Amino acid sequence: MLERVPLLEKELDQYAAIVGDDAVDRIRALAEPLRGARVLHLNATPYGGGVAELLATHVPLLRSVGLDAEWQVMHGSDEFFAVTKQVHNALQGAHIEWTPDMQRTYLEKILDNALLLEGEYDFVVAHDPQPAALLSFLGDSPVNRPSTRWVWRCHIDLTDADPTVWEFFRPHVERYDASVWTMPAFVPDSLQMDTVVFAPPCIDPLSVKNLELPEPFVAEICRQYGIDPNRPLICQVSRFDPWKDPVGVIEAYRAVRQQIPGAQLLLAGSMATDDPEGFHVWEQVEAARDGDPDVHLLSNIQQVGNVQINAFQRAADVVIQKSLREGFGLTVSEALWKGRPVIGGRAGGIVLQVRDGLDGYLVASVEETAKRTVELLGDLDLAESMGESGREHVRANFLSTRELEDWLRVFGELAEQPA
Ligand code: UDP
Repeated sequence: MLERVPLLEKELDQYAAIVGDDAVDRIRALAEPLRGARVLHLNATPYGGGVAELLATHVPLLRSVGLDAEWQVMHGSDEFFAVTKQVHNALQGAHIEWTPDMQRTYLEKILDNALLLEGEYDFVVAHDPQPAALLSFLGDSPVNRPSTRWVWRCHIDLTDADPTVWEFFRPHVERYDASVWTMPAFVPDSLQMDTVVFAPPCIDPLSVKNLELPEPFVAEICRQYGIDPNRPLICQVSRFDPWKDPVGVIEAYRAVRQQIPGAQLLLAGSMATDDPEGFHVWEQVEAARDGDPDVHLLSNIQQVGNVQINAFQRAADVVIQKSLREGFGLTVSEALWKGRPVIGGRAGGIVLQVRDGLDGYLVASVEETAKRTVELLGDLDLAESMGESGREHVRANFLSTRELEDWLRVFGELAEQPA
């Protein structure tokens, strides 16, 4: 059996005060015909990164509306995750050598997982490339019943995907009944699939990461991590990944400090079990930091968890998410929800979240990042009003209830299709 991820309980009604009774009523109506449906979400890691963050709320919410949902993680190995991280990079546009050895490592682990997968489900949702080929290897396993509907949820932007790697995955993915994407631009033209759905990810306003926190508590957390709550703070929260461009953020910060000498930078990033590149990138960032005491580099290794991330995002005067490539970038909605303006790389789902000039700015270079940061640090009223506009944009579009509604609609439509 695959590892089941233990979950907290969530109660849909508690969201009514934030999103309104109508949204809750719509969700209950969509969920009614699906009551008791068995749903399995399957991904590669129980923590670290956006998918784990999403599932920790989404699966409990499915349960709270009567579905029998669970979340399991694949069984992996260092070698397997090294290969799948390269696949992830290649699907985002990096060139890699997709060798027969790598393919074998991938497929052998998929086969192990196919043998370990148990249970009977009405819907199985496999997230991202790591489990994508699983369905091809289930054969007549009891898990693969004729009535089971299979959905591939791709969180990555495949616009510039390496053609060799994508062509390897495409036939596996096309076996699914449907695929769900963050935005239309991410879907390769070559994908042959009848049901292609768009449903961007969302944040949970009631999670520990996003709950309101009193200001003195926020200031105390900053102090405990050596950050001065009385000086300007710029913050980027993300895995230590080259596509998140943490070194570019340090370069932008250096330019900002020439004009705002008191500014501090915080790079907070978690290490995920399915991301072996993290430690290597951490070393590069440490080198770029060059001992600067005003550049704070923190991770879950220093016990930076959800409460600390929440506090750092609230403490920041400006939040940066300078991604060069991005799936969605939950950190953007997290910051906007806290009323912080966001300077985001013009990449992937960041462009859905930051309306340029309204909720912050979209940027494409170190220079632009620095310029916009100086502008916002120099005009805190503007920063405040952009943050407020961002919060309402997130309320309308990127809270967990919207995503729940989208998925219930997908399941409802798939349930009506003939087996
Ligand atoms: N995150 C965290 N601690 C960290 C860094 C990131 O909890 O030190 C969380 C972050 O708050 C967000 C998620 O990890 O909820 C990252 O999701 P995102 O979509 O931004 O990026 P991904 O990692 O999926 O590429």
